Amino acid sequence: MNISYILNELGEDRDTYFNAIAPPIVQSSNFTFNTVNAFRDALSDEYDANLYSRGNNPTINILRKKLAALDGAEDALVFGSGIAAIAIPVISLLQQGDHVVCVENPYSWTIKLFTKLLPRFGVTCTFINGTELQNFEDALQPNTKLIYLESPNTFSYELQDLAAIAQLAKSKGLLTMVDNSYCSPLYQQPIKLGIDLVAQSATKYIGGHSDVVAGVLTGSRALLKKIFELEYMNIGASMAPQSAWLLIRGLRTLPLRLQRSFESTKVITNWLQNHTAIDKVIWPFLPGFKQAELAQKQMQGCGGLFSFTLKDGSVQKIENFCNSLQHILMAVSWGGHESLVIPAIATIKAEDFDAGNIRHQLIRMYVGLEEPEYLIEDLEQALNKLA
Ligand SMILES: *Cc1c(COP(=O)(O)O)cnc(C)c1O
Repeated sequence: MNISYILNELGEDRDTYFNAIAPPIVQSSNFTFNTVNAFRDALSDEYDANLYSRGNNPTINILRKKLAALDGAEDALVFGSGIAAIAIPVISLLQQGDHVVCVENPYSWTIKLFTKLLPRFGVTCTFINGTELQNFEDALQPNTKLIYLESPNTFSYELQDLAAIAQLAKSKGLLTMVDNSYCSPLYQQPIKLGIDLVAQSATKYIGGHSDVVAGVLTGSRALLKKIFELEYMNIGASMAPQSAWLLIRGLRTLPLRLQRSFESTKVITNWLQNHTAIDKVIWPFLPGFKQAELAQKQMQGCGGLFSFTLKDGSVQKIENFCNSLQHILMAVSWGGHESLVIPAIATIKAEDFDAGNIRHQLIRMYVGLEEPEYLIEDLEQALNKLA
């Protein structure tokens, strides 16, 4: 399907709402019926009905159609957060006694899902280095049900070969799921590579303006309907119509924003790499990246998140650098208009800092929509203060 059609027209039956260009926010919790028969039909199959907004809502339906089409998926479900779009399907797919193979270093709350929450219900998880296909095969157990991926992750950017892992999983009758927040559907389409379920934090690139928390899950209609009919409706982490409207608006400019972030990141990573105070720069589309070949094979572009280390990676220097930034903000999240940094040391207790562990020295930067020269000036003045 043509991307301009998806972002500007798909799902928007404008003649049903006064030919308005922007869709209405249908701010209603429930919907009325003229006959008992129609009411009964909606109650017996809520998946496609406008009955109650914990399930469906016309504004949300416009968004679902667009997000499914962007991923090349049969359908999409939307959630009140990205982590709900991860936790709810995972809970739906697993039972007591099941086992999951998960890549190491996924999103922090995904780690908690697999190490704290699910073990209470008898589900176990093995974390593996996902850069080698063999590691997946080696980690499989007779009770393995799900392979969980995140490619690339959003701090150290290890990739997994999605097509090869999907093929392995299919041959063993296992389900695969990937967190595709980093690339968004514009730069990576895991469904087309054979992955069963694709989750994304829509808080990031889809929303794009740091003003909404939301999640999306795409996959086959059969799988999503199964998730919808119990866990989606039962846990109830649904999306508000106002959030759906903000995301539809965000989608209009997604290609432009993503391209800007991608292009600026090329300029900035290249500049940083040549700076004398910088040791490593890690970004999947940087020449010399460890898995550059795989990145070029399965990604059509690259997100604006990367990490770097200082030559002197002491806590003091990292703190000095981050505290000196004047325009680049220190905050969690990413994908909005504003550039951000988060040093790994902010996420670990001072007494746990290990100077020998490069992950502890990483400074993650997200490149927003500002002019790259403006951001480089800010980086330069902060790096100069370290000398
Ligand atoms: C932010 C993020 C999430 C969680 O999304 P929320 O919208 O914050 O719940 C999951 N995965 C990745 C990679 C993220 O960056």
